[in-house]
Amino acid sequence: MSLREWIVKSGIVLRGAKYTTKRHEYLNTIIDDDHPWQIYMKGAQVAMSTTMLIKTLYVAEHLGKKAVYYFQNDGQVSDFSNDRCQTMLDETPYLASRVRSTNNVGLKQIGPGALYLRGLFTLSQVKSIDCDMVITDETDECKDTLIDYAVDRMMHSDLQWFASLSQPSFPGYGIDKQFKQTDQRYWNLICPSCGKYNCLELDFPENFLPIPDNKKRTFPDGATYYRGCKYCQSRLEMSQGEWVALRPERQDKRGYHLSQLYTQIKPPNIPNTATRIMKEWEDYKVGHNKIARFTVSILGFPYGGGNARVDEKLLDFIEGDHGFSYRETGAYMGVDQGDQLHISIGIISGGFFKWVYFEETDDWNKLDELMIRFGVSYAVVDAMPNKWPAKQFCSRFPKQASIQYFQGKELKKGTELLSGTLEIPTVSVDRTSSLDSMIDRMEQGIVMFPNREECRGGNLTALERARYHCKQLIAKEEMTNSGVMRRVFIGGQGIENHFAMAMNSSLIAAYELGYGSAAPMVVPIFRKFGTA
Ligand SMILES: [Zn+2]
Repeated sequence: MSLREWIVKSGIVLRGAKYTTKRHEYLNTIIDDDHPWQIYMKGAQVAMSTTMLIKTLYVAEHLGKKAVYYFQNDGQVSDFSNDRCQTMLDETPYLASRVRSTNNVGLKQIGPGALYLRGLFTLSQVKSIDCDMVITDETDECKDTLIDYAVDRMMHSDLQWFASLSQPSFPGYGIDKQFKQTDQRYWNLICPSCGKYNCLELDFPENFLPIPDNKKRTFPDGATYYRGCKYCQSRLEMSQGEWVALRPERQDKRGYHLSQLYTQIKPPNIPNTATRIMKEWEDYKVGHNKIARFTVSILGFPYGGGNARVDEKLLDFIEGDHGFSYRETGAYMGVDQGDQLHISIGIISGGFFKWVYFEETDDWNKLDELMIRFGVSYAVVDAMPNKWPAKQFCSRFPKQASIQYFQGKELKKGTELLSGTLEIPTVSVDRTSSLDSMIDRMEQGIVMFPNREECRGGNLTALERARYHCKQLIAKEEMTNSGVMRRVFIGGQGIENHFAMAMNSSLIAAYELGYGSAAPMVVPIFRKFGTA
């Protein structure tokens, strides 16, 4: 008897009603899937824990096997055991009749088999149970090595079913890592009009279409968006879908990605789901925490605290109405070096930091010309890899320029000698946190890009490059030797983020070393915003 047949035969009751996949049609394939290795990367509230609970009861009651359902701690075990599992057993007469004498929080003996509910946090707990099926719930909260041990406890079983489900946390970690090794299935909606496939989460927000004025009355009052076909704009039916694997050649591991985007459960106080989701999406500009929650809970994708926080939308948001300028007083300059020098120059005006000039060159002398032309108050120049010309440059503008290192946790100022005699100012910053604070300033709208409409020719090209480089500020997570997750912006070969690095240096020049800093810094004629 298949799981589906068993569900019907047992008359499973969920929250007082007969269990059904109506309004959760994406679960049908999942219920019919008996692949031994299943990974579920999911948003919040997609009914997966309940589905897996039913499967473990089937394994115990019908197959006569032992299943272990693991959570990250005992509190979760007792909540799930009492509120979800025991309620289902009590409400479903057939199951109630099959529960044997042992029925406590951690162990349900049902028919010839058993369901264990356990916390996955010590090795001794994991080693104590041999079993036929292992489920880990909220996998990202569980230790990798313990999961491996739990899976090993199925060694002697002829079933050996494993399922892991979790909201993602960091990219490349936990459930995301597990999912990436699978065939990676996504729920695709089939357009009732043109028949084409639409994947809401991979293409988000392309399927969330504004309701045209002439159609408004066919939607609920207050609705502004609907979920439509990206090819022909017809309304999509959330129940009319099919799971499509991104990597169908992978047969050994099965993966499902579940998001809230195709939910059919509508809270009573909103006009429709698409409007609610787009409102939350618009709100993301308010900051970091919101987009993290949106990405993880609604889209079901990992979020490393800003893996690619800079996107077109944010760049448009910080687009000012100014163009490039050629002469300023009291500007701030940042320079990134490598094969080329990438230069960014900005001014502080009306409480905003406005970038007014970008240039790419291989000529160090160009920096001197720009210092004069823009009356630069302070410049910060990347120290590596060519330290000598960087120091040379700083020596020509004493008290107006520092070389910059990425090291240490706190911003630190110091000096270094050039030719054994001349003191060159240095500044050291933590790369991740200084880039994060630049992006924070973007999200707060206190830094501005030039307007593309105001730029022509080479300037426009440089500006477009700068925008592109900002989008290359992609963070990833690394496990340190001490086992702590740490976030870093990826760099090195092939990563073109040079203008973004230069922009970051110009902000360090302005906010950390120049503007508002107590030290006297410039020849008065250049000073526009320094302290008196
Ligand atoms: Zn269509």
